[in-house]
Amino acid sequence: MVKKSTFQQLRTLTPEKLALARLVLDDVRSGRPVAEAVRRHPVKGGHISKSVLVAAYNQLVESGAWQADPSLLARIRLKPVRTLSGVTTVTVLTKPYPCPGQCIFCPDEARMPKSYLSDEPGAMRAVEHDFDPYAQVRSRLEALESIGHPTDKVELLILGGTWSYYRRDYQEWFVIQCFKALNGPNPPLPPSLQGRGDTGGIGPVHLINETAPHRNVGLVVETRPDEITLDELAWFRHLGVTKVQMGAQSLDDHILEINARGHTAAETHRAVALLRAAGFKIVLHWMPNLLGATLDTDRADFPRLWEGLCPDEIKIYPTQLLENAPLYEYWRRGEYQPYTQEELVALIADLKPAIPRYCRVNRVVRDIPSTHVVAGNKRTSLRQDVHAELRRRGTRCNCIRCREVREQAVETSALELDDLAYPADSAEEHFLSFVTPEDKIAGFLRLCLPNVDSPSTGLGDLDDAAIVREVHVYGQSLPVGEEGNGAAQHTGLGTRLLEVAEKIAQRRGFHRMAVIAAVGTRRYYLERGFDRGKLYLVKSLPKA
Ligand code: SF4
Repeated sequence: MVKKSTFQQLRTLTPEKLALARLVLDDVRSGRPVAEAVRRHPVKGGHISKSVLVAAYNQLVESGAWQADPSLLARIRLKPVRTLSGVTTVTVLTKPYPCPGQCIFCPDEARMPKSYLSDEPGAMRAVEHDFDPYAQVRSRLEALESIGHPTDKVELLILGGTWSYYRRDYQEWFVIQCFKALNGPNPPLPPSLQGRGDTGGIGPVHLINETAPHRNVGLVVETRPDEITLDELAWFRHLGVTKVQMGAQSLDDHILEINARGHTAAETHRAVALLRAAGFKIVLHWMPNLLGATLDTDRADFPRLWEGLCPDEIKIYPTQLLENAPLYEYWRRGEYQPYTQEELVALIADLKPAIPRYCRVNRVVRDIPSTHVVAGNKRTSLRQDVHAELRRRGTRCNCIRCREVREQAVETSALELDDLAYPADSAEEHFLSFVTPEDKIAGFLRLCLPNVDSPSTGLGDLDDAAIVREVHVYGQSLPVGEEGNGAAQHTGLGTRLLEVAEKIAQRRGFHRMAVIAAVGTRRYYLERGFDRGKLYLVKSLPKA
């Protein structure tokens, strides 16, 4: 049973609230900036929220009192940045379950999956829905729709402890429920499923999603490096996984050991090489300020990420001292000292400019409510502080996130193609990107050319194949078939990137190309000459 979400409840406003929201909206329609209009009409104890404005707008349009006005809606919408990368992310948490790890910095809260706190923003929704995956996805989609966001391209981010440690029947059920929520009630069945009794298995829900209103364009799970095996690679693909997040945390074996990570840096390298050989996108977490680390050892450790591992995305999670983690006792005994906020800002400002252009920094701090942090940095706006420090120093970060085109209109004829080739453990990577004259990224493709040292994956689709690990084109996420005003999506950039990748692969002697397509993007590749393989989409390449 799906609980009625907060946003659904907001859809029907009381007459008083609607009247007040209408005054604000009238002001905005007459050209007044939204913030000013909101300030002119205060409510008891504060100001009217943007979600109420959107709810009022929807109510006025649905009742026929007003005509739809997309430009007004765009101005009052909440946090447009959430879909600016072209994709809407929906986060779901798995049920409380133990983790094989014993990491001393990791909090343990009863009735929560390991490492998550019940009042973290992302976790609260899961608790509200009793960790039911279907309800979590539906309520998130409804919330996003009610504030006017397109939800036709959805990346599912599954969080909670160590995914690979959950029972596989639970994992499969969980993913099926997420897809059922994306597919909606009574979805139209593709011809191959019509007349079949069981359409609730993983294959059918995937197939239905290929043409569903909410297409899955990425499926992310988080696990530990020592859980990555050949069997796990195939299982991930069976579920439709396209991206894997893992904690590297440090590349210093002594630090890993005293923090009880339970794996070595070599195991992280092994896991990353396997994931890369199987075409997955790789996100690594790295933690400064672990037990035993100093500002100097952290400065020495971070560059090791780019020596072979070369993650596609990173999350920098400065260690946070939490009362319900074993590290707390070390601190009480005087054996651990958190960095100050100033030290942390200076450290990350030292590290960021050296991040390669092929990597995206997703986070520089974890969103833990500051009330849980015993000592050390309590600011969740650390990214802004770091960027202010970079500006003060006259330096900048060149990571993907810092160079995305965002809302900027893109003049496709002015774009330049950049081919950044770099060696990773046992493969040559090409980060192909279209960049604007201002060095902003409008779209990119990750091409992996395995070499003789590349580990065998046992996945037949990938035999002797060059692998497209990611194609990403930016722009406001547009409903399928609609053109945006100069937004980079739908202008053929993806097709052009694929053509360039094919040429590079051909020149390097590859006769096959495979792509790790998310379920909802399969049609895109089928229309571009790929065929269905067992777990990937594949294409033969003519001889160069
Ligand atoms: S592996 Fe992750 S979830 Fe498990 S104890 Fe370590 S940090 Fe926590």
